[in-house]
Amino acid sequence: KEENRDGYPPLYDRFSSFYSRYVYRRIKDCWNYPICSVPGAEIVLKNRITRDSGWTFEFTGEKTKCLNLGSYNYLGFAEPNGPCAEFAIESLHKYGVSTGATRQQYGTCDLHVELEKLTAEFLGTEDAITFGMGFATNALNIPTFLSSGCLVLSDEKNHASLILGIKLSGATVKVFKHNNVQHLEKLLKENIYYGQPNQPKDHYKPWRKILIVVEGVYSMEGSIVHLPDIIALKKKYKAYLYLDEAHSIGALGKHGRGVVDYFHCNPKDIDILMGTFTKSFGSAGGYIAGSKKFISFLRKHSYAAKYATAMAPPVAAQIIAVLKILMNKDGTNEGQKRIMQLARNTRYFRRRLAQIGVIAYGNQDSPVVPILGYLYSKIAMVVRTLIEHKIATVGVGYPATPFLEARIRICLSAAHTKEQLDYALDIIEKVADQIGLKYSRKPRDPK
Ligand code: PMP
Repeated sequence: KEENRDGYPPLYDRFSSFYSRYVYRRIKDCWNYPICSVPGAEIVLKNRITRDSGWTFEFTGEKTKCLNLGSYNYLGFAEPNGPCAEFAIESLHKYGVSTGATRQQYGTCDLHVELEKLTAEFLGTEDAITFGMGFATNALNIPTFLSSGCLVLSDEKNHASLILGIKLSGATVKVFKHNNVQHLEKLLKENIYYGQPNQPKDHYKPWRKILIVVEGVYSMEGSIVHLPDIIALKKKYKAYLYLDEAHSIGALGKHGRGVVDYFHCNPKDIDILMGTFTKSFGSAGGYIAGSKKFISFLRKHSYAAKYATAMAPPVAAQIIAVLKILMNKDGTNEGQKRIMQLARNTRYFRRRLAQIGVIAYGNQDSPVVPILGYLYSKIAMVVRTLIEHKIATVGVGYPATPFLEARIRICLSAAHTKEQLDYALDIIEKVADQIGLKYSRKPRDPK
């Protein structure tokens, strides 16, 4: 127990400190590697010596170049080649690193205006607004249009930024089982019609409004939302729909337009389309797209638009360059090639993992590939051993996953070559044998 000074409780004492003190402290060598390169298909990590206590490290001065299976670089745009970097550097000279003001003051530069126009065009919506941080896009915008008296039906695996935004709004939350459309419908039924199930439609609505909140691709599960079914439900029960496409925009669909594109849905059927530029765009920040009326409401009232400094101009320039490539405005078809390469890499990698016999969660088209290890101790050994083989992956455990469902999370990229993927798969097979990760009872596919 920490010593208290003058009767004060320790400032940093929390329920979760049990885990950081007794579980994660023993395996802290699995995180916090400073990187010394672009987070591309390969990544350079700074070698560390981990001290016995605390979270302080010493650096050895040596570096390790690893195959990068840990960054969200789905389309390979984090690599500093091509027109994206040129445009970002040009904008740095013209506008500097920061606009030094909020959007409503002098923070809006012409790059923001162009970016929002292109984002809306890419997504097929009437308008879009952008923000400097993806996390804050959720956390600070949801409280702008929800308050007490509203009901949120939230998928149990939703990201922390969505959960925080919902909490801050003061709305009532009911959580439905992950990607379980039947459970969502049960909650809608219970909450829309008061009383008996055979009462006339629109009899009585106990809530000011109902918002369904889901993600496109779930970042710890690799699952893809059942979007067409959820759109049908939201129409049937007159609810609103908020879709976070952080991991699906750019990474899914024939044109890279996310799950909406993947399922050939109409973007106008989603009331609030949110996404981030951190993953497929190799940049930073987030957007919300929707009707002109809704976006102009956010421009006026959003905490993130009113009180936070605008997105950095070089960051906006990088996204503009990527959007133009994805929409083939440069006429090179480069965007399409990368989208197809990511889809091929994903299917190939997942098929080989199934042959190896490990359990990989999620959809066959999802570039987020969590490999189940159950125990965190096992995951720590896998992460360490893979780094010894010069492969960087991410180990995740409680509270980001259920306590006994710790996993290795791999993010695939269009920038990975087949040779790199084969190398990773061969090593994963070896490590899975060594550490015992082959839980799958599926028969191996014949080669
Ligand atoms: N939404 C989801 C679903 C996410 O996974 C993340 C972060 N990975 C965010 C929002 C926050 O985005 P950012 O990292 O760009 O701040």
